Amino acid sequence: MLDRLAAGYRCRLRLFLDLAGETDPAGKATRAVAEAFDPPGSGADAVCRRLLACSCAWRERAKTVALAAGRMTLREALGRRAEDVGGALEEPPVLFCDSSLVGLARWLRAAGHDARHCITARAIDLVAEASRKHGILLTTDHRCLEFGALRDGRLPALWLPSNLRSVEQLQLVIGDLDLSRLAPRCMACGGIQAAVAKQRVSEQIPPRTARWLEEYSACQDCGRLYWRGTHWERIGRTLDRAFGECVL
Ligand SMILES: [Zn+2]
Repeated sequence: MLDRLAAGYRCRLRLFLDLAGETDPAGKATRAVAEAFDPPGSGADAVCRRLLACSCAWRERAKTVALAAGRMTLREALGRRAEDVGGALEEPPVLFCDSSLVGLARWLRAAGHDARHCITARAIDLVAEASRKHGILLTTDHRCLEFGALRDGRLPALWLPSNLRSVEQLQLVIGDLDLSRLAPRCMACGGIQAAVAKQRVSEQIPPRTARWLEEYSACQDCGRLYWRGTHWERIGRTLDRAFGECVL
């Protein structure tokens, strides 16, 4: 488990070191990962905390470099890097989550982003679809980053640690891609929510909710009904924290 995470952090570090303009990003990433294991015998939690902190420190350095070089965000720098090798990055970004990131996809949609996932899709199909749509791949599988469009940055990709909770992964992606908080999308399918008249959907509203809420919306794709009840207040508070504390 720790070996897999260390290999993933090596990919994450290599990306940010490269974007920060460092020479030999692969070598430096390998050394940084090795240093996180010092002193020998450090517990797995301590090693993971150091790797996360180190990768975020290099991410912030890469942001500073992108801003100084071309008044770009890190996301724009990823797009520029993709264009340099024949790729492209759609704006706003379409985020393709691998099958291990279902929870993250739901949070990204709650935050208003076009996040897609398919738990049955093979990694190779997900990569092909993300390439066609000029999206960004989010994955916990470092092995797929070593090949083809992912290796050279034609398809921008972020490796995310599988040991983080989905809300923590959300914080990390917000910080990596400078995501804004937008109007929520359907958490089930990612479709756009549109206001719907209460009387049109009255049969779907629980009676206790109907007594005190007048505003409802429905997903334009799957039809799921949404309202801002107490469950949404909890989701909203979690998003407040994720966007307010994106120090990860
Ligand atoms: Zn939907």
